[in-house]
Amino acid sequence: MGINVGIDLGTTFSAVARISPQTGRAEIIKNHFGETITPSVLYFNSDGSVLFGEEAKQLQQEGNTNSVAFFKRNMGNGMYEVTIYGKKYTAADFSSILLKKLKETAEEVSGQKIDGAVITVPAYFTDIERSETMKAGRAAGLNVLAIINEPTAAAFAYGLNETKKDQTILIYDLGGGTFDVTVARINSDTIDVLGSDGDHKLGGKDWDDCIAAYICDEFEKQTNVSFADDAEMVNSILVLAENAKKQLSAMNSVRIPVNYKGSRAIINLDVETLEDISSFLMGTTASVIDRLFDSIGITWNNIDGVILVGGSTRMKMVQNYVRQMSGKEPLRGVNVDEAVALGAAIRANIVQEYDMLSGKPARRSSEQILSIAGAKKVRDVTAHSMGMISQNKEGDRYINSIIIPKNSKIPSSESRTYQFRTGSKNNEMEVYVVQGEYKRPLDNVITGMYSIQGIEKTSPPVTNIEVTYQYTSDGIIEVSAVQKETHKSLKVIKQSVPDDMSWTDLDPRDHAEGGNAPANIEVILSIDLSGSMYFDHSTPIHKATEAMLQFVSEMSGSKVRIGLMAFADRHKLLIEPTDNYEKLNQKIRKISDVNVGACNKDQPFTEGYRYFSRSDADVKYLIVLTDGVWSRQEHAIKEAKKCHAAGIEVMALGFGSADAKFLKAIASTDSFASLTDLNELSGSFSKIAQEIGSSGITALD
Ligand code: AMP
Repeated sequence: MGINVGIDLGTTFSAVARISPQTGRAEIIKNHFGETITPSVLYFNSDGSVLFGEEAKQLQQEGNTNSVAFFKRNMGNGMYEVTIYGKKYTAADFSSILLKKLKETAEEVSGQKIDGAVITVPAYFTDIERSETMKAGRAAGLNVLAIINEPTAAAFAYGLNETKKDQTILIYDLGGGTFDVTVARINSDTIDVLGSDGDHKLGGKDWDDCIAAYICDEFEKQTNVSFADDAEMVNSILVLAENAKKQLSAMNSVRIPVNYKGSRAIINLDVETLEDISSFLMGTTASVIDRLFDSIGITWNNIDGVILVGGSTRMKMVQNYVRQMSGKEPLRGVNVDEAVALGAAIRANIVQEYDMLSGKPARRSSEQILSIAGAKKVRDVTAHSMGMISQNKEGDRYINSIIIPKNSKIPSSESRTYQFRTGSKNNEMEVYVVQGEYKRPLDNVITGMYSIQGIEKTSPPVTNIEVTYQYTSDGIIEVSAVQKETHKSLKVIKQSVPDDMSWTDLDPRDHAEGGNAPANIEVILSIDLSGSMYFDHSTPIHKATEAMLQFVSEMSGSKVRIGLMAFADRHKLLIEPTDNYEKLNQKIRKISDVNVGACNKDQPFTEGYRYFSRSDADVKYLIVLTDGVWSRQEHAIKEAKKCHAAGIEVMALGFGSADAKFLKAIASTDSFASLTDLNELSGSFSKIAQEIGSSGITALD
């Protein structure tokens, strides 16, 4: 059986660690060069072989274009695709190749087979980035035991076992490409993360860019020559810039000689100038910290110690800032480059023994588990709120309706119940899940479109779907659903988010897209024109006409398409469902002129079925208005049932001598049958209008 390792899959450097069989402490497995960290760089040879680490970085620095670096910044970015020798790669593909190389190297160096791994990610990574990291790990042949947050892993590595007293620790993690800040309460056996925040587009590389821009300006000042547009030159200046930055962590000034097309200059850079030109970057880290403090209600006064993680925390300005704000020296003891991998190794080796989620020991006693140096129970949090796209209360805007707020403990789950009209939208309900804090959906990350399938038809056709949104302990989102009436779990399929989500900026009343958008609805009003409608100076037909006109006016602005049918001895579809209400009203006003015979031999269902079976509407209503008893009732009921089976909702509205039992038999559900007074006809139609207007998914809470 192989071992479990911790892997810090960094933007610029990666590291692998295990628990030493000799000491029981976490230790780095060095690479073939005897280095504890390996550059996260790949180089593709034309024969299909791939170099990685130091060798690949060397070739990259020589300006070889078949090398890739910084791909972690593009994890889960659908727009990022690199073609090398005709083959396309995503960031997850590159990560998977690198992980495989790291695994093979660690196996060769340690002489131990690697089975499982805990892979670390910035706390700020969203569901997409975490899922892609998990996928990359699996594709590399690793059993991914967990995805954990880098700062939490660092807290493990620091152990802080010496005190029984609770300490509030700030973990300041500034790597090559990401910045993460986390506040945790740590005691002798528990790490309780209070909150995390970060900016995963900020890291040491931004300081390099800053220095490179400075070198470029100074060179131009001294020589009147600019190389700003020469990509190859800028690349090699970036290498000089990074070296200068690293030197300035140990000394006060550096001299950078630059040659370009025969022009030469020596650029002097000192610590103060570096601080000056990059102060806006330090400002960004400071405001991320302030934002986190605000959200969890603490200040620098509450911080007992600061753990520095990531190569960029070697910069003097970072250490000065931490000293100045906390009034203390940063905590020391673990190498900033190694802390994350070491912590992940600890976690990888307690994960089997310890149920991190419940906090209860699984197989062994907690004393034995905690005998791995640094091992602790951990309660982590999510750095992003999880929400779904829904309509605001007024129904005039789409919003991110937050379900699990940011900084909630993970794992965490919340359920919401939605009303869904069965028979609509192929019995599929869609929910769009987003991560982020902003009201406007597009200002957040839309992580997935979840299609909830196999909803069973119910009677009445409104069913309750309980959707459970979950953050796993890996910080990955899972959605599950149960149909409350049947208690059955529904199939939930995560689908990719359509490229064009601009409908979320539109007024929900003006379009029919999206999970909670109004359904695509068609209605056929079918009116009984037998002789009795003309009794009493045609009062019934006039009242029915009035009620139908009223109904149409109540539906205005709804986009529901309405048609009109008359039946008696024969039937006639006077107008197919349309949203041209003007044209429809003209037909309604002239209904009394229509001749379909005087008796009740025919029925509207056969024609309704014929029309709707070709229609693409999601919700189909056949509203039958009648004042009498039909001569072929059995046949009518049979045809009505065919409509019910096809998902056509039949509503039966009777008055005068209409037969209540018959109305119930032809209606889809008992609640869709009603016997009313002629004078109440408009009111009954009004209720129907409300019923139809509420089609689609309606949140109950
Ligand atoms: P990490 O992603 O944690 O491996 O951090 C890599 C980043 O740390 C890169 O941007 C390096 O340039 C930076 N770095 C490494 N060593 C130093 C140093 N001595 N001083 C300043 N930055 C450094």
